[in-house]
Amino acid sequence: MVYKIRSVPVELCIWNSLFKRMKLHPNDKQYYSNLTRGYEGEVQFDALTEKLNCDCYLLQDLLLQTNNTTFQIDSLLITGNQLYIFEVKNYEGDYHYEQDKFFKKPQYEINNPLHQIGRSESLLRQLLFKHGISLQIKAFVVFINPEFTLYQVPQDNRIILPTQLNRLIKQLNASSSKLTKQHKNLANKLVSLHLEESPFSQLPSYTYETLRKGMICCKCSSFTLHVEGKEVVCITCQQRETIITSVLRSVDEFRLLFPECKITTRLIHEWCGVIESKKRISRILDKHLVKVGVKRWVYYK
Ligand SMILES: [Zn+2]
Repeated sequence: MVYKIRSVPVELCIWNSLFKRMKLHPNDKQYYSNLTRGYEGEVQFDALTEKLNCDCYLLQDLLLQTNNTTFQIDSLLITGNQLYIFEVKNYEGDYHYEQDKFFKKPQYEINNPLHQIGRSESLLRQLLFKHGISLQIKAFVVFINPEFTLYQVPQDNRIILPTQLNRLIKQLNASSSKLTKQHKNLANKLVSLHLEESPFSQLPSYTYETLRKGMICCKCSSFTLHVEGKEVVCITCQQRETIITSVLRSVDEFRLLFPECKITTRLIHEWCGVIESKKRISRILDKHLVKVGVKRWVYYK
């Protein structure tokens, strides 16, 4: 069973918004693309592991810390006699392995994911030891993309190639070990130790002034919205949404981008763009957010 579910990382949500609202440097575009692909790969792996029918707890996306070192585990599986950790890689194309190094063909070296998973395994072991837990850990690097090819595959049983994924699932399903209260305590412990804020986040610099204002269509992400009665309609894809929903969605996006900024009617009116009446914005904020202060010092939480 899924014990901790994966959610879209905050960093990725911010990038999704910035991608639409500012011109990104090619390096930033590359970073954003890698981030998106990485997340998509993890979601694909979730789709496989969520179907496991052995007795297990699945913890998706853990960010943990031990001895002042933060590390991330894409997926962790607790069974009766083992603990599995998975590092998921959504690489596509031809890669080769040579003398402990990974290269994207022809000669572009990438970080060796075996080193990464080895580090996570070691840190997790230290963390468990500190909490008096001893359970054998098995670590794997999973290459999830069916278009991935690895030449000169190292003889390392921690590597799971796309063609070996079904076998992995079958092997896990064949496990007959049962979970006990201790395993549940372990799952709870790991969830409680999970950190929300990632120190690995990397964002381009942006300000309110430099971002494109306006509401974005919830379906096709275009800015081509106009108001029709109580609804906002997209000219590009004809998607309809109530004004209330789209304003609140825009407020959420604004908060995500500017968590330190106070929400005011003036600001949200400008941010949304297409809603002509400030009163309409103010009514929505009054009803759905918490009003703080009086008169011209009013803001919303
Ligand atoms: Zn649209």
